[in-house]
Amino acid sequence: MDHGPRTGNRVALTFDADMTDGMLSNLRAGRVTSYANLRILDLLEREQVPATFFLTGKWVQRYPEITRRIADNPRFELANHTYGHAAFTDDCYDLPRLPVGDLTDDVAKTFEVIEPYGGRQTRYFRFPGLCHDAAALDALAPLGVTVVDGDVISGDPFATAWKPLVGAVLDHLRPGSIVIMHVTEANAAMTDEALPHILAGLRERGLAPATLSEVLAGA
Ligand SMILES: [Zn+2]
Repeated sequence: MDHGPRTGNRVALTFDADMTDGMLSNLRAGRVTSYANLRILDLLEREQVPATFFLTGKWVQRYPEITRRIADNPRFELANHTYGHAAFTDDCYDLPRLPVGDLTDDVAKTFEVIEPYGGRQTRYFRFPGLCHDAAALDALAPLGVTVVDGDVISGDPFATAWKPLVGAVLDHLRPGSIVIMHVTEANAAMTDEALPHILAGLRERGLAPATLSEVLAGA
């Protein structure tokens, strides 16, 4: 899925929570303070904005209390972004490649990590870097997931200014859009600054944020 029906006025704000072994070692060594942007959660909660979080298993295990906060919010949906954000294909940015034989278990294990938190669990899945091929899709078939990419790429990873993110989102936003952002603070440091402007802009356009389920259903 890249987007929902182009009817109505709903759009889905989605936030990826990447976590790799390299990121964990950055945290342990103190090179990085946080890969969990609480200012995003504060804003979404304060303004009662629905959103969907694509969680990696390793992010959940590193931030169990923040995962609980997400799961406890009735406006937030939880989705699967693999266990350790490894690539499911060759040539997926600089991500290390998972063997094809490990793909199914990786995603199944991630559901097992997320499910105990309850809340609005889904079977939505997003590939790291959106990289997928026929073998990767075959590996997921037994799991009954819906693969979700998105049609609006904010470009927030490693951004150094917030204004380009706002433009990238608002210039491409349409009814049914799925917006891809990140909640990974140190790797997406401008997202919380861009988000209030994105919310204001979508309201000006008569659009309203909704969960991914609602957007895909054309609700
Ligand atoms: Zn990711």
